[in-house]
Amino acid sequence: MRRRLDLHWQILIALLLGVGAGLLWPQGSATPGGFEPVTAFAFVGSLFLRGLKMVIVPLVAASIIAGVAGIGAGRGLGRLFAKTFSWYIATSLIAILTGLLLVNLVRPGVDAQGPVAARLGLTAPVADLAAGLEERGAGDIIGIVQRMVPDNPLAAAAAGDMLALIFFCIILGLGVAALPEEMRLRQLGFWESLLAAMMKVTGWVMATAPVGIFALVAQITATSGFAAFGPLARYGLVVLGALTLHAFVTLPLLVSVVGRLPALRHMRAVAPALLTAFSTRSSSATLPLTMECVENRAGVSNRVTSFVLPLGATINMDGTALYECVAAMFIAQAYGIDLGFGVQFVVVLTALLASIGAAGIPAAGLVMMSIVLEAAGLPLEGIALILAIDPVLDMCRTTVNVFSDTCVAVVVARSEGETGVLAG
Ligand code: ASP
Repeated sequence: MRRRLDLHWQILIALLLGVGAGLLWPQGSATPGGFEPVTAFAFVGSLFLRGLKMVIVPLVAASIIAGVAGIGAGRGLGRLFAKTFSWYIATSLIAILTGLLLVNLVRPGVDAQGPVAARLGLTAPVADLAAGLEERGAGDIIGIVQRMVPDNPLAAAAAGDMLALIFFCIILGLGVAALPEEMRLRQLGFWESLLAAMMKVTGWVMATAPVGIFALVAQITATSGFAAFGPLARYGLVVLGALTLHAFVTLPLLVSVVGRLPALRHMRAVAPALLTAFSTRSSSATLPLTMECVENRAGVSNRVTSFVLPLGATINMDGTALYECVAAMFIAQAYGIDLGFGVQFVVVLTALLASIGAAGIPAAGLVMMSIVLEAAGLPLEGIALILAIDPVLDMCRTTVNVFSDTCVAVVVARSEGETGVLAG
């Protein structure tokens, strides 16, 4: 019997082919029939993305309600939450400090001729961008907490407002857990079977990932090419270097030392989710695959995955946290502003909050930059400096965001006494 290539290899090949196809047929090139390949890439890519997004709300809702109602109030949920939350904060802080260290060592905002801002040339869209940021009220942290409690849970679900949806599902799960046994089991059965059905659907969407990812990557390459780099390369390299350290040193250490699990095998198990995160630039869109990989390929129980991962996709973003810090420091350096210890501390803290508040969608981290810049008293227009290479950095930070969620999931599963994790 012929063995089928493992999914992550299929996706990796699709990714490379996508880059090739994008370079071969850049935007504006037409085939003999007058047809532009980039249109086809965009069409197929958006179908795949829509397929992923289609499963998110029912999958997350069923998974959290079934998870919480199954564990039941007072039967370890508080402990699970405390553990998960602590690891999420700890990994994000380590990520930020890694970024802070590198950006202070390399100082990408300053070169032989001094701060680089003036020479990078700030252009017109800056004002629009700043206005857009203010409109979205990204600066308002209390607002984030307030929006966590939905005034209408169905509207929150319809709008894809994940934090509010998660909050409501946890409460509803607790409500189910508090029912008399017969009623509880009836409700639990419903949510559990809905969850099983949604996992099946996710599996089907996942099977199309190689085609979808090929199209997405081809589209990105065809429209922006490699021209995005230039003078920002040093800043980009600092972000990438710090992300690499976090993903290949810190997080594997967490898995192997704290979780006492094989870090390489873990990485292989979650690779399809990582590659999807890379090409979709969205933790939320990747969530169904993250859950499928952690549960079916890494062997973590549904009880842990269904609680830890949806929460992680929303609040745990190590890559974004790290990026917020490096970008703010880079902007300060580029403008020749010297940040003392106190302000750097503010940067660290707001980078953490910004990463918690950022939605798991493309460029969310860029939008949240305004919180960090405002808090540190840095010019908001500095965002223009980092705009050009943001899509590339977004791909990488989203991958790290998702990877960190999976690492915490296996560590928490282990600490809950699960023995089947990465056993096969
Ligand atoms: N795109 C990132 C994510 O979905 C968020 C960000 O822009 O940093 O995880």
